Amino acid sequence: MFIRRLPKFEYHTPSTVREAIAIAGKHNGDAKFIAGGTDLLLAMKKREIMPAHLVSLNGIGELRYLTVLANGKPSEEAGGLKIGALTTLAQLLASDAVKKDYAPLWDAVDVMASAQIRSLATIGGNLCSAVPSADTAPPLLAMDASIEIVNHSGKRTIPLNEFFNGPRQTTLGHKEILTHILIPKMDSSSGGCYLKLMRRNAMDLALVAVAVCLKLDETKKVCKEARIALGAVAPTPIRVPEAEAMLAGKKIDEMQITEAAKIAGMQCHPISDIRATLEYRCSMVEVLTKRAIERTLQRIQA
Ligand SMILES: Cc1cc2nc3c(=O)[nH]c(=O)nc-3n(C[C@H](O)[C@H](O)[C@H](O)COP(=O)(O)OP(=O)(O)OC[C@H]3O[C@@H](n4cnc5c(N)ncnc54)[C@H](O)[C@@H]3O)c2cc1C
Repeated sequence: MFIRRLPKFEYHTPSTVREAIAIAGKHNGDAKFIAGGTDLLLAMKKREIMPAHLVSLNGIGELRYLTVLANGKPSEEAGGLKIGALTTLAQLLASDAVKKDYAPLWDAVDVMASAQIRSLATIGGNLCSAVPSADTAPPLLAMDASIEIVNHSGKRTIPLNEFFNGPRQTTLGHKEILTHILIPKMDSSSGGCYLKLMRRNAMDLALVAVAVCLKLDETKKVCKEARIALGAVAPTPIRVPEAEAMLAGKKIDEMQITEAAKIAGMQCHPISDIRATLEYRCSMVEVLTKRAIERTLQRIQA
């Protein structure tokens, strides 16, 4: 593919969120925030977007952290994991807390891009780019994550499933910054996993992706809660509540798993494109959902 030089732009290096928002406000509509730049700079080289101003978030230390919450502010008192939007994929992959207690996210980062890209690319950039195949979105949806968005007049926290509007479209305004992601704590009777189907085993976007999170009862046989999220099979990453309802409140057996997977395959609405047909994607959703539920059960029961 022929990729041209970057178009001309002015580069701004604020050191606080407030300063970054003020700069974006001054150049209303003609400024873009840049994190790792692994999506944005490519889009600029292809002339898909040509902002005259880039506002770098990289000097804002308060956006690059991973904190395991024990007790916190009211909205965080149940504990969980708080991830600054500028945290890189490499930092997530290196985190024992993510690997051990938030496995679906770790599974996703483990199959994303290359080591070079992961050292630059951020979790916030992956969500804000809002491509249907963004790998961190399904696990975060399945783990019921919420996000904090800051603008000049304050901040708001919304569930992640209210963030995506369409391919490359979110509820984020020009002058708003995604500051962090909050994942509720998973206890020992909960677990999950993320499976991604690619045309090759590395450096490829998902043809189909499935994330599953289950919470079992004390016997580890009955499912109390189920969340299933899909990527690359709809204009946005989606949850499939009908498939989840097939598992929630039931003793999970082979029949339940097969039925839930079948429903997930019917509930997605992918397109046919150069990488796969609609029919193939739907049947792969069914296969991957079944495998993801089985792997999740194995993980919890182990
Ligand atoms: C070779 C290659 C392989 C890749 N492989 C994968 C893959 O396997 N899976 C996958 O999902 N993606 C992949 N990507 C895409 C990309 O690397 C990821 O989406 C990455 O996480 C984007 O993060 P970034 O920090 O580079 O975002 P940037 O490019 O800096 O920004 C992306 C968009 O988000 C906005 N933005 C960024 N941060 C914020 C914020 N905090 N608040 C508000 N707006 C913000 C920017 O304005 C821009 O519009 C790949 C890219 C390349 C080049």
